[in-house]
Amino acid sequence: MTPGIVSTNITAHFDERIMPGRHHLFVPGPTNIPDRILRAMHRASEDHRSVAFPDLVSPLLAATAELFRAAPGHVAVFTASGTGGWEVALTNTLNAGDTVLLPCAGQFAALWGSTAERLGFRVERFDDVAWGEAPSPERIAARLSEDRAKAIRAVLLVHNETSTGVTADLPAIRKAVAATGHDALLFVDGVSSIGSLRYRHDEWGMDVALTGTQKGLMLPAGLALVAFSPRALAAIESSRAPRAYFDMRAMLAQNAQGYFPYTPSIPMLYGLRESLSMLAEEGMANVISRHARLARGVRAAVAGWGLDICCRDPQRASNTVTTIMTPPGFDTARFIAHAFRRYDLALGGGLGPLAGKAFRIGHLGDLNEGMLLSALGLVEMAMIDSGHALTRGSGVAAAQVAWTEA
Ligand SMILES: *Cc1c(COP(=O)(O)O)cnc(C)c1O
Repeated sequence: MTPGIVSTNITAHFDERIMPGRHHLFVPGPTNIPDRILRAMHRASEDHRSVAFPDLVSPLLAATAELFRAAPGHVAVFTASGTGGWEVALTNTLNAGDTVLLPCAGQFAALWGSTAERLGFRVERFDDVAWGEAPSPERIAARLSEDRAKAIRAVLLVHNETSTGVTADLPAIRKAVAATGHDALLFVDGVSSIGSLRYRHDEWGMDVALTGTQKGLMLPAGLALVAFSPRALAAIESSRAPRAYFDMRAMLAQNAQGYFPYTPSIPMLYGLRESLSMLAEEGMANVISRHARLARGVRAAVAGWGLDICCRDPQRASNTVTTIMTPPGFDTARFIAHAFRRYDLALGGGLGPLAGKAFRIGHLGDLNEGMLLSALGLVEMAMIDSGHALTRGSGVAAAQVAWTEA
């Protein structure tokens, strides 16, 4: 290493090329960045107040609305990660002290709830739900029916809970809520779903949805994309929650002209344009079915290993991430570290109560069967090295069967 240059183990790992060949990145975000997107982002700086800048921004905002299946003009692009999107949703539509309802059976739901509390909102949680369960439409509806005073102003929904690998049934939740006549807004965290799983903002009647760029969109973290319903847009005007950087009013006013209220991350905008082009070229329906197909192979591999996934209801198993329960007594943290050091394979760890009890394979973004077969084969080797006697090839063969069946 060059003297005077600060290094950590991770930069040494990547910069000094300890491992030949490609790194195997299988965390559920950030995901692999396709070369096309890297090239698109490799740009000189330019004037974001120039007369030409709206030629980039206006079509990009229209394509972003299409990604959400939301109306044009109802989306905003903030320089932030997904966490910033949580703040956009809350502070632009609610009033300080308002109550939000949170089905909470995963790390991202828990973090969104604590963000809401720190911003001065009251959070009512269903926190007796086992991790691995999906939010219950009936229970949400039952709670809203009881709320005759309409104190609950919004329901926070994580579309795809990345910690447990569980996908919520958003249309069923909307249907159940509509039947109650309650007017709470439905907020959706789509960070690990939008761009990989089916999502229909307007058709499903969702009010505010957000995503980040480092998962299905195959970009670095750096932009928070947020979509609003007409009702949520109207709430922006009456909301009195304190907001500054994330104020939608300034953003919408500038966006309408093809500009931003402050300096945007220009390489990220070019990267987003390329990402949305790639998704459009493949066709969103094909992107969604590719994720479903890859996920089926991963779940078949887990069954082939004789292990369980965290998700309880097979119908709700995520097509972007699989959380795999490890056998009792197995040192999961050591296994993950060994996979990284020995095989250059990055796996997700268990989060919250799943720490040490599970690992996660991300299967979203720029991926195909061959890449996943590498990961599944390496998982087998790293598990065997770590003392779990599974049959070599059991998961790989099961995935191959899943992918070669008609
Ligand atoms: C990754 C993720 C986030 C976190 O977003 P950041 O971009 O890290 O701020 C939020 N919600 C879900 C469901 C996620 O998967």
